[in-house]
Amino acid sequence: MAKKEFKSESKRLLDLMINSIYTHKEIFLRELISNASDAIDKLCFIALTDDKLNMSRDDFKIFIKPDKENRTLTITDNGIGMDKDDLENNLGTIASSGSYKFKQEMSEKQDDIDIIGQFGVGFYSAFMVAKKITVVTKKYGCDTAYKWESDGADGYEITETERDEIGTTIVLEIKDNTEEENYDEFLEQYRIQGLIKKYSDYIRYPIMMDMTHS
Ligand code: ADP
Ligand code: MG
Repeated sequence: MAKKEFKSESKRLLDLMINSIYTHKEIFLRELISNASDAIDKLCFIALTDDKLNMSRDDFKIFIKPDKENRTLTITDNGIGMDKDDLENNLGTIASSGSYKFKQEMSEKQDDIDIIGQFGVGFYSAFMVAKKITVVTKKYGCDTAYKWESDGADGYEITETERDEIGTTIVLEIKDNTEEENYDEFLEQYRIQGLIKKYSDYIRYPIMMDMTHS
């Protein structure tokens, strides 16, 4: 499938995120974990009434895996997942999401860059630390799994892929360090643990760290 461009207003937000000079880049993890938690809430709710799902509250978890060798940080949830339309509509566009509110605020007070920290900036904030993002996901009630890939500016691509379980895996290819910016820290286990403690302590589901390779 050919590469699709982001919708124009999403593109502007994306540019902002990619070229962000914002010092609190670390908040991307809070955003991805909160999305994972929202997705789990949705499936958890369905599980209450759908016996076929055979899942109870304790089965739901969020996994985080920093991998220094491959320079990736992976966030996996066993929440509701996304189908092709969801990927198009939710990750290709800024809907009525945190990102949207963020964009509005930004255009109102362009110079106050610190407002980033004040509310949800959404999925795109991951582009502050990632040069490429790959999302592999399978939605509840859907037989096909999909892969969404984007290196930011050029748009995104959606292809069919394999995945057994319902849920979503987000792989961030972490940017290389520059003279001004350090990104390696986001591959450090202790740093990730610290961020989880700082921003995601309130999350209702267990957040597990996968230690292999790190
Ligand atoms: P918001 O969370 O405010 O809606 P985001 O930019 O963080 O905005 O996310 C956009 C949308 O993408 C979410 O509303 C959700 O529909 C979808 N999404 C993001 N991450 C996940 C995930 N891990 N599982 C399922 N859906 C997701
Ligand atoms: Mg969100």
